[in-house]
Amino acid sequence: MGLHSTYGLTRIINARGPYTPLGVSRSEDGVTAAVAAALSEFVVMEELQDVADRALARFAGAEAGTVVHCTASAITLAVAATMTGESAERIAALPDTTGMPRAVVLPAGHAVDYGHPITQAVRLAGAVPVTVGTDETYTLEDLEAGLARPDVTCLLLVSSRLVRGAGAELSEAVAVAHRRGVPVVVDGAAQDFRIDELLRTGADLVTVSGQKYLGSPTAGLVVGRADPVAAVRAQERGIGRAMKASKEAVIGVLAALEARAELDVAQWKQQQADKLADFVTRAGALRGITAGPVPDPTGLPFERARIEVDPAASGMDAAALERALYSGSPSIRVMPGCRQGAQELLLELVPLRPAEIDTIVARLGELLPGRQD
Ligand SMILES: *Cc1c(COP(=O)(O)O)cnc(C)c1O
Repeated sequence: MGLHSTYGLTRIINARGPYTPLGVSRSEDGVTAAVAAALSEFVVMEELQDVADRALARFAGAEAGTVVHCTASAITLAVAATMTGESAERIAALPDTTGMPRAVVLPAGHAVDYGHPITQAVRLAGAVPVTVGTDETYTLEDLEAGLARPDVTCLLLVSSRLVRGAGAELSEAVAVAHRRGVPVVVDGAAQDFRIDELLRTGADLVTVSGQKYLGSPTAGLVVGRADPVAAVRAQERGIGRAMKASKEAVIGVLAALEARAELDVAQWKQQQADKLADFVTRAGALRGITAGPVPDPTGLPFERARIEVDPAASGMDAAALERALYSGSPSIRVMPGCRQGAQELLLELVPLRPAEIDTIVARLGELLPGRQD
Protein backbone atom coordinates (compact mmCIF):
# COMPACT_ATOMS: atom_id res chain seq x y z
CA MET A 1 0.00 0.00 0.00
CA GLY A 2 3.06 2.28 -0.44
CA LEU A 3 1.45 4.27 -3.22
CA HIS A 4 -1.68 4.95 -1.22
CA SER A 5 0.13 6.30 1.83
CA THR A 6 2.66 8.30 -0.21
CA TYR A 7 -0.02 10.20 -2.08
CA GLY A 8 -2.83 9.99 0.46
CA LEU A 9 -5.03 7.90 -1.84
CA THR A 10 -8.17 6.07 -0.73
CA ARG A 11 -7.56 2.36 -0.17
CA ILE A 12 -10.09 0.42 -2.23
CA ILE A 13 -11.09 -3.12 -3.05
CA ASN A 14 -12.28 -3.06 -6.64
CA ALA A 15 -15.04 -5.62 -7.14
CA ARG A 16 -16.33 -3.77 -10.23
CA GLY A 17 -14.12 -5.44 -12.83
CA PRO A 18 -11.92 -3.53 -15.30
CA TYR A 19 -13.39 -0.19 -14.37
CA THR A 20 -11.42 2.82 -15.65
CA PRO A 21 -12.16 5.23 -12.72
CA LEU A 22 -10.62 2.67 -10.33
CA GLY A 23 -7.39 2.03 -12.24
CA VAL A 24 -8.84 -0.67 -14.52
CA SER A 25 -6.67 -3.73 -13.84
CA ARG A 26 -3.61 -5.24 -12.24
CA SER A 27 -0.65 -6.08 -14.44
CA GLU A 28 1.31 -9.19 -13.65
CA ASP A 29 4.99 -9.06 -12.70
CA GLY A 30 6.33 -9.83 -16.20
CA VAL A 31 4.40 -6.88 -17.63
CA THR A 32 5.46 -4.57 -14.81
CA ALA A 33 9.13 -5.46 -15.32
CA ALA A 34 8.93 -4.97 -19.10
CA VAL A 35 7.32 -1.55 -18.68
CA ALA A 36 9.91 -0.49 -16.09
CA ALA A 37 12.73 -1.53 -18.43
CA ALA A 38 11.17 0.42 -21.32
CA LEU A 39 11.00 3.68 -19.40
CA SER A 40 14.78 4.21 -19.31
CA GLU A 41 15.53 3.26 -22.93
CA PHE A 42 15.46 5.03 -26.29
CA VAL A 43 13.99 2.99 -29.10
CA VAL A 44 13.13 3.58 -32.76
CA MET A 45 9.38 3.81 -32.27
CA GLU A 46 8.63 2.69 -35.81
CA GLU A 47 10.56 -0.55 -35.26
CA LEU A 48 8.86 -1.15 -31.94
CA GLN A 49 5.43 -0.52 -33.48
CA ASP A 50 6.26 -2.94 -36.32
CA VAL A 51 7.21 -5.65 -33.82
CA ALA A 52 4.05 -5.07 -31.81
CA ASP A 53 1.85 -4.95 -34.91
CA ARG A 54 3.16 -8.34 -36.04
CA ALA A 55 2.82 -9.87 -32.57
CA LEU A 56 -0.73 -8.57 -32.25
CA ALA A 57 -1.76 -9.90 -35.66
CA ARG A 58 -0.29 -13.31 -34.77
CA PHE A 59 -2.01 -13.30 -31.39
CA ALA A 60 -5.41 -12.43 -32.86
CA GLY A 61 -5.06 -14.60 -35.94
CA ALA A 62 -5.79 -11.48 -38.00
CA GLU A 63 -4.16 -10.15 -41.16
CA ALA A 64 -2.85 -7.15 -39.25
CA GLY A 65 -2.88 -5.27 -35.97
CA THR A 66 -1.68 -2.01 -34.46
CA VAL A 67 -1.52 -0.32 -31.05
CA VAL A 68 -2.90 3.14 -30.25
CA HIS A 69 -3.50 4.99 -26.99
CA CYS A 70 -6.72 3.32 -25.81
CA THR A 71 -9.94 1.91 -27.19
CA ALA A 72 -11.75 5.24 -27.16
CA SER A 73 -9.03 6.55 -29.48
CA ALA A 74 -9.02 3.28 -31.43
CA ILE A 75 -12.71 3.86 -32.26
CA THR A 76 -12.00 7.44 -33.42
CA LEU A 77 -9.02 6.29 -35.50
CA ALA A 78 -10.87 3.30 -36.98
CA VAL A 79 -13.66 5.61 -38.12
CA ALA A 80 -11.05 8.03 -39.49
CA ALA A 81 -9.38 5.17 -41.35
CA THR A 82 -12.61 4.29 -43.15
CA MET A 83 -12.97 7.94 -44.25
CA THR A 84 -9.39 8.55 -45.37
CA GLY A 85 -7.81 5.23 -46.28
CA GLU A 86 -4.08 5.94 -46.50
CA SER A 87 -4.53 9.25 -48.36
CA ALA A 88 -2.01 11.68 -46.80
CA GLU A 89 -4.15 14.61 -47.90
CA ARG A 90 -7.32 13.30 -46.27
CA ILE A 91 -5.44 12.31 -43.10
CA ALA A 92 -4.02 15.82 -42.81
CA ALA A 93 -7.47 17.37 -43.39
CA LEU A 94 -9.31 15.61 -40.53
CA PRO A 95 -11.45 16.47 -38.65
CA ASP A 96 -12.49 18.49 -41.71
CA THR A 97 -14.31 15.83 -43.74
CA THR A 98 -15.15 17.93 -46.80
CA GLY A 99 -15.56 15.60 -49.76
CA MET A 100 -15.40 12.41 -47.66
CA PRO A 101 -18.16 9.96 -46.74
CA ARG A 102 -18.83 10.62 -43.08
CA ALA A 103 -21.95 8.92 -41.75
CA VAL A 104 -21.25 6.19 -39.18
CA VAL A 105 -24.29 3.94 -38.83
CA LEU A 106 -24.82 2.21 -35.48
CA PRO A 107 -27.76 0.49 -33.75
CA ALA A 108 -29.31 2.78 -31.10
CA GLY A 109 -28.66 0.21 -28.35
CA HIS A 110 -24.97 0.17 -29.32
CA ALA A 111 -24.65 3.90 -28.65
CA VAL A 112 -23.08 3.02 -25.29
CA ASP A 113 -21.52 5.30 -22.70
CA TYR A 114 -18.27 3.93 -21.23
CA GLY A 115 -17.37 7.22 -19.52
CA HIS A 116 -18.36 9.35 -22.49
CA PRO A 117 -20.77 8.49 -25.29
CA ILE A 118 -19.22 6.36 -28.05
CA THR A 119 -20.91 8.75 -30.48
CA GLN A 120 -18.47 11.42 -29.29
CA ALA A 121 -15.54 9.13 -30.19
CA VAL A 122 -17.13 9.00 -33.67
CA ARG A 123 -17.60 12.78 -33.85
CA LEU A 124 -13.98 13.38 -32.80
CA ALA A 125 -12.91 12.05 -36.21
CA GLY A 126 -15.22 14.57 -37.89
CA ALA A 127 -17.77 11.85 -38.67
CA VAL A 128 -21.51 11.96 -37.99
CA PRO A 129 -23.17 9.14 -36.01
CA VAL A 130 -26.51 7.92 -37.38
CA THR A 131 -28.43 5.54 -35.12
CA VAL A 132 -30.92 2.98 -36.39
CA GLY A 133 -33.58 0.98 -34.52
CA THR A 134 -34.50 1.59 -30.90
CA ASP A 135 -32.93 1.02 -27.49
CA GLU A 136 -34.85 -2.25 -27.31
CA THR A 137 -33.97 -3.76 -30.68
CA TYR A 138 -32.94 -3.30 -34.30
CA THR A 139 -33.63 -5.39 -37.35
CA LEU A 140 -31.60 -6.04 -40.49
CA GLU A 141 -34.20 -3.88 -42.31
CA ASP A 142 -33.41 -0.98 -39.94
CA LEU A 143 -29.75 -1.44 -40.82
CA GLU A 144 -30.46 -1.62 -44.56
CA ALA A 145 -32.38 1.66 -44.32
CA GLY A 146 -29.54 3.39 -42.45
CA LEU A 147 -26.88 2.05 -44.79
CA ALA A 148 -28.83 3.22 -47.84
CA ARG A 149 -27.63 6.81 -47.27
CA PRO A 150 -25.13 7.92 -49.91
CA ASP A 151 -22.52 9.21 -47.44
CA VAL A 152 -21.98 6.13 -45.24
CA THR A 153 -18.36 5.47 -44.26
CA CYS A 154 -18.78 2.48 -41.93
CA LEU A 155 -21.04 0.45 -39.68
CA LEU A 156 -20.10 0.53 -35.98
CA LEU A 157 -21.13 -2.34 -33.71
CA VAL A 158 -20.37 -2.89 -30.03
CA SER A 159 -19.84 -6.12 -28.11
CA SER A 160 -20.14 -5.22 -24.44
CA ARG A 161 -22.24 -5.66 -21.32
CA LEU A 162 -23.17 -2.02 -21.87
CA VAL A 163 -25.17 -2.75 -25.04
CA ARG A 164 -28.89 -2.13 -24.52
CA GLY A 165 -31.60 -4.39 -25.86
CA ALA A 166 -31.20 -7.21 -28.35
CA GLY A 167 -31.01 -7.22 -32.10
CA ALA A 168 -29.50 -8.96 -35.09
CA GLU A 169 -26.53 -11.32 -34.75
CA LEU A 170 -23.30 -9.36 -35.24
CA SER A 171 -22.28 -11.57 -38.16
CA GLU A 172 -25.61 -10.94 -39.91
CA ALA A 173 -25.25 -7.18 -39.42
CA VAL A 174 -21.72 -7.36 -40.82
CA ALA A 175 -22.98 -9.30 -43.85
CA VAL A 176 -25.65 -6.65 -44.56
CA ALA A 177 -23.00 -3.91 -44.53
CA HIS A 178 -20.60 -5.91 -46.67
CA ARG A 179 -23.26 -6.54 -49.31
CA ARG A 180 -23.29 -2.76 -49.73
CA GLY A 181 -19.48 -2.53 -49.69
CA VAL A 182 -19.53 -0.77 -46.29
CA PRO A 183 -16.68 -1.65 -43.88
CA VAL A 184 -17.51 -2.66 -40.30
CA VAL A 185 -15.81 -1.67 -37.05
CA VAL A 186 -16.60 -3.71 -33.92
CA ASP A 187 -15.77 -2.22 -30.53
CA GLY A 188 -15.03 -5.13 -28.21
CA ALA A 189 -13.13 -3.20 -25.55
CA ALA A 190 -13.32 -5.73 -22.71
CA GLN A 191 -13.53 -8.73 -25.03
CA ASP A 192 -9.86 -9.67 -25.40
CA PHE A 193 -10.78 -13.30 -24.56
CA ARG A 194 -13.17 -13.25 -27.55
CA ILE A 195 -11.10 -11.47 -30.23
CA ASP A 196 -11.21 -14.48 -32.55
CA GLU A 197 -14.98 -14.73 -32.20
CA LEU A 198 -15.39 -11.02 -33.02
CA LEU A 199 -13.10 -11.37 -36.04
CA ARG A 200 -15.15 -14.34 -37.23
CA THR A 201 -18.17 -12.02 -37.55
CA GLY A 202 -16.33 -10.77 -40.65
CA ALA A 203 -15.67 -7.31 -39.16
CA ASP A 204 -12.94 -5.34 -40.94
CA LEU A 205 -11.60 -3.83 -37.72
CA VAL A 206 -11.98 -4.96 -34.10
CA THR A 207 -10.90 -2.72 -31.23
CA VAL A 208 -9.93 -4.07 -27.80
CA SER A 209 -8.45 -2.49 -24.66
CA GLY A 210 -5.03 -3.80 -23.64
CA GLN A 211 -5.53 -2.66 -20.05
CA LYS A 212 -8.75 -4.52 -19.29
CA TYR A 213 -8.53 -8.33 -18.85
CA LEU A 214 -5.25 -8.54 -20.78
CA GLY A 215 -3.54 -6.47 -18.06
CA SER A 216 -1.18 -4.30 -20.13
CA PRO A 217 -0.71 -0.57 -19.53
CA THR A 218 -3.43 1.55 -21.15
CA ALA A 219 -3.49 0.71 -24.87
CA GLY A 220 -5.98 0.32 -27.69
CA LEU A 221 -5.47 -2.77 -29.82
CA VAL A 222 -6.81 -2.69 -33.37
CA VAL A 223 -6.89 -5.92 -35.37
CA GLY A 224 -8.41 -6.89 -38.69
CA ARG A 225 -7.83 -6.66 -42.42
CA ALA A 226 -4.46 -5.33 -43.59
CA ASP A 227 -5.65 -2.26 -45.53
CA PRO A 228 -7.88 -0.67 -42.89
CA VAL A 229 -5.33 -1.45 -40.15
CA ALA A 230 -2.63 0.30 -42.23
CA ALA A 231 -5.04 3.24 -42.58
CA VAL A 232 -5.46 3.32 -38.78
CA ARG A 233 -1.72 3.41 -38.26
CA ALA A 234 -1.35 6.10 -40.95
CA GLN A 235 -3.44 8.41 -38.74
CA GLU A 236 -0.27 8.96 -36.64
CA ARG A 237 0.53 11.75 -39.15
CA GLY A 238 -2.86 13.31 -38.39
CA ILE A 239 -5.38 13.24 -35.55
CA GLY A 240 -3.72 10.06 -34.25
CA ARG A 241 -0.80 12.15 -32.99
CA ALA A 242 -2.93 12.98 -29.96
CA MET A 243 -3.83 9.31 -29.50
CA LYS A 244 -0.47 7.59 -29.81
CA ALA A 245 0.73 4.64 -27.78
CA SER A 246 3.78 5.32 -25.60
CA LYS A 247 6.87 3.09 -25.80
CA GLU A 248 6.12 1.67 -22.35
CA ALA A 249 2.55 0.88 -23.38
CA VAL A 250 3.67 -0.91 -26.54
CA ILE A 251 6.29 -2.93 -24.63
CA GLY A 252 3.70 -3.69 -21.95
CA VAL A 253 1.30 -4.93 -24.63
CA LEU A 254 4.01 -7.24 -26.02
CA ALA A 255 4.62 -8.68 -22.54
CA ALA A 256 0.90 -9.05 -21.84
CA LEU A 257 0.31 -10.83 -25.17
CA GLU A 258 3.11 -13.27 -24.33
CA ALA A 259 1.61 -13.90 -20.89
CA ARG A 260 -1.83 -14.52 -22.39
CA ALA A 261 -0.43 -16.88 -25.04
CA GLU A 262 1.10 -18.93 -22.22
CA LEU A 263 -2.06 -18.88 -20.08
CA ASP A 264 -3.91 -22.17 -19.71
CA VAL A 265 -7.37 -20.66 -20.18
CA ALA A 266 -9.22 -23.81 -19.07
CA GLN A 267 -7.25 -23.88 -15.83
CA TRP A 268 -7.71 -20.13 -15.32
CA LYS A 269 -11.44 -20.54 -15.84
CA GLN A 270 -11.54 -23.29 -13.21
CA GLN A 271 -9.63 -21.09 -10.74
CA GLN A 272 -12.15 -18.29 -11.27
CA ALA A 273 -15.05 -20.71 -10.80
CA ASP A 274 -13.55 -22.09 -7.56
CA LYS A 275 -12.90 -18.60 -6.20
CA LEU A 276 -16.48 -17.59 -6.98
CA ALA A 277 -18.01 -20.78 -5.53
CA ASP A 278 -16.12 -20.25 -2.27
CA PHE A 279 -17.26 -16.63 -2.04
CA VAL A 280 -20.88 -17.51 -2.86
CA THR A 281 -20.91 -20.19 -0.13
CA ARG A 282 -19.48 -17.86 2.50
CA ALA A 283 -21.55 -14.79 1.58
CA GLY A 284 -24.70 -16.89 1.16
CA ALA A 285 -24.36 -18.13 4.76
CA LEU A 286 -24.98 -14.62 6.09
CA ARG A 287 -28.43 -13.66 7.31
CA GLY A 288 -30.51 -11.73 4.80
CA ILE A 289 -28.32 -12.56 1.81
CA THR A 290 -28.76 -14.96 -1.06
CA ALA A 291 -25.67 -15.35 -3.22
CA GLY A 292 -25.17 -17.00 -6.59
CA PRO A 293 -23.19 -16.84 -9.83
CA VAL A 294 -24.21 -14.76 -12.87
CA PRO A 295 -22.75 -15.59 -16.29
CA ASP A 296 -21.22 -12.81 -18.38
CA PRO A 297 -23.80 -11.79 -20.99
CA THR A 298 -21.15 -11.42 -23.70
CA GLY A 299 -19.68 -14.88 -23.15
CA LEU A 300 -16.48 -14.01 -21.28
CA PRO A 301 -15.06 -17.12 -19.55
CA PHE A 302 -16.03 -16.31 -15.96
CA GLU A 303 -19.05 -15.49 -13.82
CA ARG A 304 -19.77 -12.67 -11.36
CA ALA A 305 -21.29 -13.00 -7.89
CA ARG A 306 -24.81 -11.75 -7.34
CA ILE A 307 -25.77 -10.86 -3.78
CA GLU A 308 -29.50 -10.54 -3.21
CA VAL A 309 -30.48 -8.68 -0.11
CA ASP A 310 -33.66 -9.36 1.85
CA PRO A 311 -34.32 -5.98 3.53
CA ALA A 312 -36.72 -7.56 6.06
CA ALA A 313 -34.05 -9.98 7.33
CA SER A 314 -30.96 -7.80 6.99
CA GLY A 315 -32.37 -4.41 7.92
CA MET A 316 -31.03 -2.74 4.79
CA ASP A 317 -31.76 -2.65 1.09
CA ALA A 318 -29.18 -3.19 -1.66
CA ALA A 319 -28.48 0.53 -2.07
CA ALA A 320 -27.83 0.93 1.67
CA LEU A 321 -25.54 -2.11 1.66
CA GLU A 322 -23.63 -0.70 -1.33
CA ARG A 323 -23.19 2.62 0.53
CA ALA A 324 -22.05 0.86 3.70
CA LEU A 325 -19.44 -1.18 1.77
CA TYR A 326 -18.30 2.00 0.03
CA SER A 327 -17.97 3.97 3.25
CA GLY A 328 -15.64 1.57 5.09
CA SER A 329 -11.87 1.38 4.98
CA PRO A 330 -10.77 -0.05 2.67
CA SER A 331 -13.65 1.21 0.56
CA ILE A 332 -15.30 -1.78 -1.17
CA ARG A 333 -16.61 -0.89 -4.63
CA VAL A 334 -19.29 -3.18 -6.06
CA MET A 335 -21.70 -2.89 -8.98
CA PRO A 336 -25.43 -2.20 -8.63
CA GLY A 337 -27.53 -5.02 -10.06
CA CYS A 338 -28.92 -4.73 -13.56
CA ARG A 339 -32.41 -6.20 -13.07
CA GLN A 340 -34.97 -3.45 -12.58
CA GLY A 341 -36.20 -3.21 -9.00
CA ALA A 342 -34.16 -6.18 -7.76
CA GLN A 343 -32.44 -5.85 -4.36
CA GLU A 344 -29.09 -7.01 -5.64
CA LEU A 345 -25.41 -6.17 -6.01
CA LEU A 346 -22.87 -7.67 -8.41
CA LEU A 347 -19.23 -8.36 -7.62
CA GLU A 348 -16.43 -9.29 -9.98
CA LEU A 349 -13.72 -11.23 -8.18
CA VAL A 350 -11.34 -11.94 -11.10
CA PRO A 351 -8.45 -9.62 -10.17
CA LEU A 352 -8.90 -9.82 -6.39
CA ARG A 353 -6.42 -11.39 -3.98
CA PRO A 354 -7.64 -13.97 -1.43
CA ALA A 355 -7.13 -11.50 1.45
CA GLU A 356 -9.32 -8.93 -0.34
CA ILE A 357 -12.11 -11.46 -0.79
CA ASP A 358 -11.79 -12.37 2.90
CA THR A 359 -12.15 -8.67 3.74
CA ILE A 360 -15.33 -8.41 1.66
CA VAL A 361 -16.85 -11.45 3.41
CA ALA A 362 -15.81 -10.14 6.83
CA ARG A 363 -17.32 -6.72 6.11
CA LEU A 364 -20.58 -8.26 4.92
CA GLY A 365 -20.59 -10.28 8.17
CA GLU A 366 -20.17 -7.11 10.24
CA LEU A 367 -22.87 -5.25 8.34
CA LEU A 368 -25.35 -8.14 8.33
CA PRO A 369 -25.65 -10.17 11.54
CA GLY A 370 -24.56 -13.78 10.92
CA ARG A 371 -27.09 -16.60 10.80
CA GLN A 372 -27.56 -18.20 14.21
CA ASP A 373 -28.72 -21.75 13.61
C1 LIG B 1 -13.82 0.48 -21.70
C2 LIG B 1 -14.59 0.61 -22.96
C3 LIG B 1 -14.19 1.51 -23.96
C4 LIG B 1 -13.06 2.46 -23.77
O1 LIG B 1 -11.84 1.79 -23.65
P1 LIG B 1 -10.56 2.59 -23.21
O2 LIG B 1 -9.44 1.64 -23.56
O3 LIG B 1 -10.71 2.85 -21.75
O4 LIG B 1 -10.52 3.84 -23.99
C5 LIG B 1 -14.88 1.54 -25.14
N1 LIG B 1 -15.94 0.73 -25.35
C6 LIG B 1 -16.39 -0.13 -24.41
C7 LIG B 1 -17.56 -1.00 -24.72
C8 LIG B 1 -15.72 -0.23 -23.18
O5 LIG B 1 -16.15 -1.09 -22.27
